[in-house]
Amino acid sequence: MATGIPQRRVLRTDIPGPRSAELHARKIAAVASGVGTTLPAYVVRAGGGIVVDVDDNHLIDFGSGIAVTSVGNSAPRVVDAVRAQVEDFTHTCFMITPYESYVAVAERLNDLTPGDHEKRTALFISGAEAVENAVKIARHHTGRSAVVAFDHAYHGRTNLTMALTAKNMPYKHRFGPFAGEIHRVPMAYPYRWPSGSATCADQAFEAFTTAVRVQVGSDNVAAVIVEPIQGEGGFIVPAPGFLHRVAEWCRDEGILLIADEIQTGFCRTGDWFASTHERIVPDLITTAKGIAGGLPLAAVTGRAEIMDSVHTGGLGGTYGGNPIACAAALAAIDTMHAEDLCGKARRIEAIMRPRLDTLVERYDQLGEARGRGAMLAVEFAEPTPALAGAVSAACHRAGLITLTAGTFGNVLRFLPPLVIGEDLLTEGLDILDAAFQEVL
Ligand SMILES: *Cc1c(COP(=O)(O)O)cnc(C)c1O
Repeated sequence: MATGIPQRRVLRTDIPGPRSAELHARKIAAVASGVGTTLPAYVVRAGGGIVVDVDDNHLIDFGSGIAVTSVGNSAPRVVDAVRAQVEDFTHTCFMITPYESYVAVAERLNDLTPGDHEKRTALFISGAEAVENAVKIARHHTGRSAVVAFDHAYHGRTNLTMALTAKNMPYKHRFGPFAGEIHRVPMAYPYRWPSGSATCADQAFEAFTTAVRVQVGSDNVAAVIVEPIQGEGGFIVPAPGFLHRVAEWCRDEGILLIADEIQTGFCRTGDWFASTHERIVPDLITTAKGIAGGLPLAAVTGRAEIMDSVHTGGLGGTYGGNPIACAAALAAIDTMHAEDLCGKARRIEAIMRPRLDTLVERYDQLGEARGRGAMLAVEFAEPTPALAGAVSAACHRAGLITLTAGTFGNVLRFLPPLVIGEDLLTEGLDILDAAFQEVL
């Protein structure tokens, strides 16, 4: 079984090895080239902090399939729940003949998300679909059409979510025209704030309120959408206090606050949701990625009066809240409770953060280390992708799966599974050290 995989790195060939190279040639001939590949090592098994490829190399996983397998790949409770559900029934469509697990996932999300107000949840398939629906609900409830998003934001690849996403390449380039009524404002990004981090929160807040009031008109704005730590944008932690002030201001203006917790949610940042660190209680929260241990599931959770303002039949989809994905989500959430994965994320931070700080001290080319819990990154000072790409490639050759991010492609980001063993975590950090030595 996948979870029986020894938690050790083993390299039997170059990475990628010969069998992966063969599969990759088939991929290039069969799969649309727009679908990229970070590391063409073809996977046969994965569990804990290890990914095994077709050449029997055992790679250390600092990516979790982009913050998805927080409970580990093929986590035991998830495997059991999925197996049982597949034997009972695979699909009915919740809108046709419903089932308990969907309701139970909604109850859990209503309970776990920030705020003790009454809530409702609707389930979907992908993160982008959840964001689309959060915007639909916000517009319907407020009767307003404008939506405000931030610099460096990532909210998905569908037409509306491309419009919300900030970065042109690769997400938007020549894919327009985009959905209308999306307005962009500066993010309080301390490291790159022109006048320095000390003035960042105040000036960004001023710029935000001015743009919304003067350029868009507060009365026209249905919602402000924000990632409490920006993910693809480079693990940008907003300047302290910024989001809290944004949330209070939105409340006074009758603007809904949507927290996109698709990457930050489910223990990733050391709490169930990153909104908690920012002392914000969003009106609507979107979740996906870590929710179901690798099965496709997404959700919008929000204030009951907002969610229930939509007419019956206005929300849904054929597969949203599929029973197999719901069974996996319940098992994944049980795992997070039983194994205290929020505590594990904080422990990962305690081990990783000093090592990343040391790298920043050692290499002038690095600008800063940042992040929370098991969502950590280092940013290169130079706003170009060359060094982050080179270090990441060196990690891959040594059997460590790393990802890059950032508006400038100059951020190395780390998202280990929360169940990763400390030996493996330390070995991964040693490989990262060696990759820096090799490249810089
Ligand atoms: C990944 C991501 C999305 C999109 O989710 P998909 O499941 O890929 O559609 C949206 N928002 C954030 C913050 C994300 O990290």
